[in-house]
Amino acid sequence: MVRFDPDRPADLEICPVFARPELMRTVPRYRMPDEPTLPDTAYQIVHDEAQLDGNARQNLATFVTTWMDERAYDLYRETADRNLIDKDEYPMAAEMEHRCWRMLADLWHAPSPEHALGTSTVGSSEAAMLGALAMKKRWQAARRAAGESTDSPNLVMSSAVQVCWEKFCNYFDVEARTVPIDDEHPMLRGEQLAGYVDERTIGVVGILGVTYTGAYEPIAELAAALDALEADTGLDVPLHVDAASGGMIAPFVDPSLEWDFRLDRVHSINTSGHKYGLVAPGVGWVVWRSADVVPEEMVFHVAYLGGDTPSLTLNFSRPASQVTVQYYQFLRLGRTGYRQVQQASLDVARWIADQVAQMPELELVGDRLSMPVVTWRLAPEVTGWDAYDVSNQLRTGGWQVPAYPLPDNLSDRTVLRMVVRNGLSRDLADDLVADLRRAVAYLHKHGGDDEQGTRFDHLGRGAAPGS
Ligand SMILES: *Cc1c(COP(=O)(O)O)cnc(C)c1O
Repeated sequence: MVRFDPDRPADLEICPVFARPELMRTVPRYRMPDEPTLPDTAYQIVHDEAQLDGNARQNLATFVTTWMDERAYDLYRETADRNLIDKDEYPMAAEMEHRCWRMLADLWHAPSPEHALGTSTVGSSEAAMLGALAMKKRWQAARRAAGESTDSPNLVMSSAVQVCWEKFCNYFDVEARTVPIDDEHPMLRGEQLAGYVDERTIGVVGILGVTYTGAYEPIAELAAALDALEADTGLDVPLHVDAASGGMIAPFVDPSLEWDFRLDRVHSINTSGHKYGLVAPGVGWVVWRSADVVPEEMVFHVAYLGGDTPSLTLNFSRPASQVTVQYYQFLRLGRTGYRQVQQASLDVARWIADQVAQMPELELVGDRLSMPVVTWRLAPEVTGWDAYDVSNQLRTGGWQVPAYPLPDNLSDRTVLRMVVRNGLSRDLADDLVADLRRAVAYLHKHGGDDEQGTRFDHLGRGAAPGS
């Protein structure tokens, strides 16, 4: 009989997986290994390392989808090897993308959805940049036509915008004219706009669902202020709505709230299909109210894949999976299904908020929950422990609940945020609240860590809520 020899490749496959040589030593970290590894062995190594990222279902730190049904995953896998940009090769993927943004144009009350324009993107960041680029080019064209300089464009927005807006301004040379938030104005208000908008303003950004707190900025009020400004000064300044999260919540649970294309001032809207659009990352959407607000030069006609492929994205190749699954979710759930899903998340969030409100050590930030996001901070009387200690304590039970300071003038306020998504059942929320109570009781008794708990990302910068 030939003896089993773990160094003989043919014998490796019968070797119990955790006794294989690769699993008995540290694998190379930053240099590609010289030799191949059996797929099962490599799978085990990568799977185990990925597991250290925590349990996605206990992650309350993100808006991004962490649960989909099995049929969605079937389609995800089946279409992962199709390149969405290759519209000639994969005309059905392209057609599904078209159907999706048309459905969004309709959901968001575009005056005539067949004359709207839209595209899928990698996420809201890319979508926001496209919306902002259209505003910048539209402004430049108008300035040129009037014989005016196109130097020094600016974009007006709250200081509580998501980082993608600062990126846009930095990458595309536009001044980020941010309106600071403070106690008097915890979010952008219409009355503030006249002090910030001028003839070099390419547009104003309103946020439907501020990342830090989940609060809605008053979009109709911003639109009305810009209408009044135009009547006064002749400046025609478009409004873009960053509805990364709220764009798939408000239409279902607050259908009478006017924040979308019902307001003529709103030229474009972005949302993240991978947030409350209920698709695993990464897909985003941008829709313009009508094709004529998109400068023609933004649409590229690519011939070399065969046929005419209109493209207006920053990115090129991407898997068809996310768009295919977005279409599946629209079909699977319909408006009623989306309403049920979002209402269920909102109900769970409101229940958690009620529980938080009953704890004397904690106080809620903001009054009414528009989105399924619960933001709270420690009561002023609490000493000896802080929000970071609560976050750390919850970590011991696997829960990821970030603590972070609010932006600029409110940066002395540290808050904790719990984002409730499809997949956090009321039952699981009960366990979360029980762990929160335990964490607070423990800190009450033992105090917190003396270290001031600012978290840093791997580049050493203080962390803010990104997604
Ligand atoms: C998440 C978020 C973004 C960025 O979206 P991605 O899809 O992660 O690129 C932009 N704006 C707001 C308000 C967000 O919540």
